[in-house]
Amino acid sequence: MEIPLRTAGSRESRIAPRAGRRSVVNIGELTSRLAGVRGVMFDIDGCLVLSDGPSGHGGSVLAGASEAIAHVRASGRSLVAFTNGSMQTSGQIAASLRSMGLDVQDSEVLTPAVVAAETMQDLYQDQPLLVFGGNGVLDDFEHRGLNLVDIDRALTGAPTRAAAVVIGWDTAFGKDKIQVAAEAILAGAKLYCTSDAPSFASKDRLNVGVSGFIAAGLSHVTDRPYRVLGKPSEESINVLSRRLHVQPSEMLIVGDDLTLECEMARRAGALGCLVTTGTHSAVDAAAAPVEQKPDFVVDNLMELVELFALSSAGTTAARG
Ligand SMILES: [Mg+2]
Repeated sequence: MEIPLRTAGSRESRIAPRAGRRSVVNIGELTSRLAGVRGVMFDIDGCLVLSDGPSGHGGSVLAGASEAIAHVRASGRSLVAFTNGSMQTSGQIAASLRSMGLDVQDSEVLTPAVVAAETMQDLYQDQPLLVFGGNGVLDDFEHRGLNLVDIDRALTGAPTRAAAVVIGWDTAFGKDKIQVAAEAILAGAKLYCTSDAPSFASKDRLNVGVSGFIAAGLSHVTDRPYRVLGKPSEESINVLSRRLHVQPSEMLIVGDDLTLECEMARRAGALGCLVTTGTHSAVDAAAAPVEQKPDFVVDNLMELVELFALSSAGTTAARG
């Protein structure tokens, strides 16, 4: 385990808590901060599981994932599994994780579609929304009773009067939809995207993102910007904080992507952990800009369990 730890002066130290490894620096600060964590967010792809596609579809459980979830639950902390995929609903993802042996409830899974639906409800109330994606996106909007434009009717040329265009995982986004979405944006609708991550970690190959590809293309043809609602956005931090029932500063955010989970932790003022079983390595973390720098790096989630055990031992000793 090699752990670059952010210090107050943003100077990087390297620590290793076990004998025979690198010199121990600031392990006390890290375990102290872990002891103060009240809610934990785990990324899914490349963190809990390595799937054949995004959103935990198929694939296998990564080392320590089951133990880490059990440890967090047993310690009385809240937990959430948060993917940036919007292909499946949160319920489908939870069922998939359970089928692989992970103890995750439906209410403990977040997707950017949940964040998007809650944000659109706050910003636009009952105004028409032009939302693109499959059930993984549309279910969350329909559950909240939001006013969705009938896309089939819009494709016939009917005006949408949409206040916002939301792009999710829509693999059937061709010329007709480009035309409808672009006309709505040029007429004043704001453009949002569930995620613009270029790719996801999966078992044998890079799995390229669809939502960001579409949003970037619409931005190109309309010359209007788009806003991402999934990780690492402020909106996603707010929804996560509510779901974990803790303040952002009381969260530990764990994931394999510096630009998503580690940047989200930085923005939230949460503790950030990079696990190197997916997209980014410890070398990448050392070279990361300060806004994406993790507080510590683990090779797998079993190492996180060991650090939690050290932190709870320290807390017990301090109380004794
Ligand atoms: Mg990931």
